This record gives sequence, structure tokens and C-alpha cells, in this order.
Amino acid sequence: MRALARRLVVRPTKRLGQNFVHDANTVRRIVRLAELGPEDVVLEIGPGLGSLTLALLPVAAAVLAVEIDPVLAGALPDTVAERAPTLAGRLSVHAGDALRLRPGDVAAGREPTAVVANLPYNVGVPVLLHVLEQLPSVRTGLVMIQSEVVDRLAAPPGGREYGAPSAKLAWYAEARRAGPVPRSVFWPVPGVDSALLAVRRRAQPATTASRERVFAVVDAAFAQRRKTLRGALAGLAGSPSAAEQLLRAAGVDPNTRAERLSIEDFARIAAAESH
Ligand code: SAM
Repeated sequence: MRALARRLVVRPTKRLGQNFVHDANTVRRIVRLAELGPEDVVLEIGPGLGSLTLALLPVAAAVLAVEIDPVLAGALPDTVAERAPTLAGRLSVHAGDALRLRPGDVAAGREPTAVVANLPYNVGVPVLLHVLEQLPSVRTGLVMIQSEVVDRLAAPPGGREYGAPSAKLAWYAEARRAGPVPRSVFWPVPGVDSALLAVRRRAQPATTASRERVFAVVDAAFAQRRKTLRGALAGLAGSPSAAEQLLRAAGVDPNTRAERLSIEDFARIAAAESH
């Protein structure tokens, strides 16, 4: 991998969260935990030098890779042609920003069914939420990100780790921590611990409110998470008493805090707001 990086004159940058996995066991573990079947079309965000891509190609029908770094995106088809020539036809690469991904960018006639990625850490959460929003065909996911972010994303309501990202992810999917990953598997070695997160899409909460309104309530509630909801939602509702009315209409105790609410509770508040 280092030789390939040298050949491409790649110097990993922090700005793009470039920590490449050089450990074959970790790559195999990610693929195993992703539980892919031969029909699966995998969306891989940030393939980098291609170590995970090469492990995904044999087990999936296709891999749609989205890479922001034009040098890495350009080199990936050559790497695959060299290392796995018989599987090269399964790969398509989109050179671009995953945060701006639209369905047509990666479709190439196939809809991704799973997202598998060693995510760029600085944009891991927004990329995951964006993919789930933009690509409803994605049913499952297995991603690697910072360990503490995995804990936050997988946290149920009620604890300190539960926050706006956990509630928003719950809009789309169930999430669980799928194990730690040692720092030593990366090049360069990152300054944070990593872990795996498994997601499985679930039915969205039944609500008359739009996703945008529900997320606006989530953001407002967690912006002042130490306050009671009566106080935290005062700005959104117009006043503390209007917030209290809204919360009562939604069947939520105005004296409770954001961290106790499920995404269904937030959806009920947003629905009451639009009445
Ligand atoms: N998958 C490779 C591996 O495991 O070795 C690389 C993982 S590295 C943590 C993250 C990769 O995401 C880098 O290749 C980086 O260039 C790419 N990247 C960073 N920001 C991105 C974005 N917004 N959209 C798409 N790719 C991005």
C-alpha cells in the first residue's frame, strides 16, 4: 500500500481524513460483518487506495465507489485491473464529494443496497445521514468511524451519549456498535480510536411532519440539552408557554430533557407544531 501511495505521490492528508487500512484481517472483518450477499450492490465512500474495495468486489454484485481525491479516484480502476482483473467489471468510480452525492451519480443502472466504508472521520456523520436520505435503496450499512462517534450514534435515549446525531440516525435506521478497531491497522496511525457501526434501515416514524421539521426540533432541543424542553424549545415555539402547549399537545412532559426523547417523540412534537 505504501508503495502504491509512493507511486501515486499520495501524501495522506488530515483534511480529507485519509487514514488508510493496511491490515488484511481488519478489511476481512469489515466485509464479514457487512453480511453481504451476491446480489448486493455496495456503495463504498472514500475507497482511498482500494484495500477495502478489493475485499468487497469478490462478495458483491457491484461496488460503486465515491472518492473526493481525484488522484485516488483516478488510480482505483488501475489498482483493481492489476490486482483483481476478473472483477474489474464490477467496479464503478465516481470522483466527487459524498456529501453532494445524488442518486444518478452512482446508479449506473444499479441501485446500491448497502453502504460499506472506512469513513473520512471529519465528515463521517453527515455523510452517513446524507447517504441514507438520498439513497433509499440502501438497506444496510457497516462503517468505521471514531469510537466515541459510534457510541453516540448507537446510543438509545436516556443517557449522556444520546444526542442529535443518534436521534437523526434513528429516523432512518437501527444502529449498533459492531466492535473496536485498533489504531495500529491504519497508515498513518490516527490520534483517535476507531470502531465499527452496523446500521439496518427501518420504517420511518409515521408522522405528518416533514423530515426537515422533525430535524429542526431535534436540533433546537439538543442545542440547549441541559434545559427542560419547555425552555429549550421556547425559541422555536415563540415563548416558553407556547413550547409548553406544544409539548402537551404532543403528549411530552415539558419538564423533561431532550435526551429522554425518542425520534418518535420528536416527530410528534413537529407534527403538533404544524397544526
Ligand atoms: N477506504 C480506504 C481504506 O480503508 O484504506 C480509505 C479510508 S480514509 C479513512 C477516507 C477516504 O475518504 C480517503 O480516501 C479520502 O480521500 C476520502 N474522502 C474524504 N472526504 C470525502 C468526501 N467528502 N467524499 C468522498 N470521499 C472522501
